[in-house]
Amino acid sequence: TVNTETHGFQAEVKQLLKLMIHSLYSNKEIFLRELVSNAADAADKLRFKALSDNSLYGDDGELRVRISIDKTARTITIDDNGIGMSREDVISHLGTIARSGTSEFFDNLSGDQAKDSQLIGQFGVGFYSGFIVSEMITVNTRAAGAAADQAIQWESEGEGDYRLTNITKESRGTEIILHLREGEDDLLEAWKLRQIVNKYSDHISIPVEMWKEGQPESEGPDGPDGEKTPAVPGEWDSVTRASALWTLSKSELKDEEYQEFYKHIAHDFEDPLIWSHNRVEGKQEYTSLLYIPARAPFDMWNREKEHGLKLYVQRVFIMDDAEQFMPTYLRFVKGVLDSNDLPLNVSREILQDNKITTSLRTACTKRVLTMLERMAKNDDEKYLKFWNEFGQVLKEGPAEDMANKEKIASLLRFSSTSVDGAAQEVGFGKYIENMQEGQEKIYYITADNYTSAVKSAYLEIFKKKGIEVLLLTDRIDEWLLSHLTDFDGKQLVSVTKGDLDLGALDDDDAKKAKEEATEEFSSLIERIKTTLGEKVADVRLTHRLTETPSCVVTNEDGMSSQMIKLMESAGQ
Ligand code: ADP
Ligand code: MG
Repeated sequence: TVNTETHGFQAEVKQLLKLMIHSLYSNKEIFLRELVSNAADAADKLRFKALSDNSLYGDDGELRVRISIDKTARTITIDDNGIGMSREDVISHLGTIARSGTSEFFDNLSGDQAKDSQLIGQFGVGFYSGFIVSEMITVNTRAAGAAADQAIQWESEGEGDYRLTNITKESRGTEIILHLREGEDDLLEAWKLRQIVNKYSDHISIPVEMWKEGQPESEGPDGPDGEKTPAVPGEWDSVTRASALWTLSKSELKDEEYQEFYKHIAHDFEDPLIWSHNRVEGKQEYTSLLYIPARAPFDMWNREKEHGLKLYVQRVFIMDDAEQFMPTYLRFVKGVLDSNDLPLNVSREILQDNKITTSLRTACTKRVLTMLERMAKNDDEKYLKFWNEFGQVLKEGPAEDMANKEKIASLLRFSSTSVDGAAQEVGFGKYIENMQEGQEKIYYITADNYTSAVKSAYLEIFKKKGIEVLLLTDRIDEWLLSHLTDFDGKQLVSVTKGDLDLGALDDDDAKKAKEEATEEFSSLIERIKTTLGEKVADVRLTHRLTETPSCVVTNEDGMSSQMIKLMESAGQ
């Protein structure tokens, strides 16, 4: 028509669409989960906006999503009465990818289908997943508060471009019409859609409705004169539980439901590693449902990446990514926090400096640390999986969170001379269990990588004496150690620093031998000192090397050689 405008997709959208249709086909059912999830988000957003403007509901306050099938037209329609979209919304949400991490995502694509499909899942498949099963999608939408003739239609084949048309739409919200590709007719069966909805969307808090056929009036058992069964009219019938999942009690919930709920709120594709669901009543009232993902996001180190919990107040959605409830070193945690104590009109500014926020943050932090402690205790394998994904982030903890320093320290894992290979498996607790009789300190070495750590000459004396040394080779380790100086009353000591005092581990004979050697070599030491002059602070006889003739050490209180390198690379 005359008012139709054609727009090109952003290049990234075209690329994503192509990838998605091919690599996610074996998982095609997820399109329905994504579209229902968007409808639920749209209901949440409307409820939130209506807190300050109740008229937005008009005469349609029962929020729901409806799924219907037209076998003749071969379409599936997903219709919601949520917030809807304006023309600008449609252009930015259904024509571009505005998310942070987009460029990292495209940089990370490898061309390997299995790897890429997993990456797409992590990135979030969303609305565009409709094209896995559709040759064309029509979206009719009217924003809450907009007049009927201010509605907009978006239509596309999911290739190069889409069309926008101004339309009239009687009701508020968004209607998505999927024109199925050839061969997708199995999706036109109501029982099939119902099964998909039950599998993936049972946790959605608004009702997901499908049409239930009525019954015509029928004759009774005794023929025309018998009692008649009255006609039952058809009706929209909820096929889901339709209550906010976190408000249900644990005993009512199956693992699968927790897992699907996670995928909805985290926009993830994979099941979470573990979760913790808690309701607290009394002085403070809140419910938290906190998840640890199975995999680190590909853009975990992107500082701008949104993180934080989904915040509800008295079951009303308030905001996504409320980062005030988790410390930065737990930024990988996903979940929902529903508070009864915060005001409904709470904003990010109010949250910033608020006593309730602080106590909720303390509580949520504790929940996560406890969940990790339990996992570390009960399931080694799972914990190491967690550690490999998020250990580097957790290492920021001791510097950030003084109050939980010891707890966090007990969760750290390192490579060690007691384990073959670079795997980070040894914690301080295990180290202490393995300490030698008379050993009082925890020994470690820092290096650029595992190989240089494990081959270091500094380790010789420790090997000889059978003392374990932790091998710290991550970039962040120096930073960690500048904030963590002891564990369980035992000092952490670098094997490369200053005079190594092995304390009670040195027996009397060894001490005597040391003294004699010091005498014997004193003139040699003097000669070396004179030769090297100002280049060194001191030259000392060492007893710690057993095979290598000499090594460079830093002062006890000086920067370690690793730290010096780190500073140099930062241009200091
Ligand atoms: P995500 O849900 O992760 O934001 P999607 O691709 O699923 O990504 O959706 C993109 C955006 O399109 C949403 O963030 C939302 O703003 C908008 N949108 C999609 N579906 C609807 C809908 N049913 N009602 C209102 N807005 C929608
Ligand atoms: Mg979505």
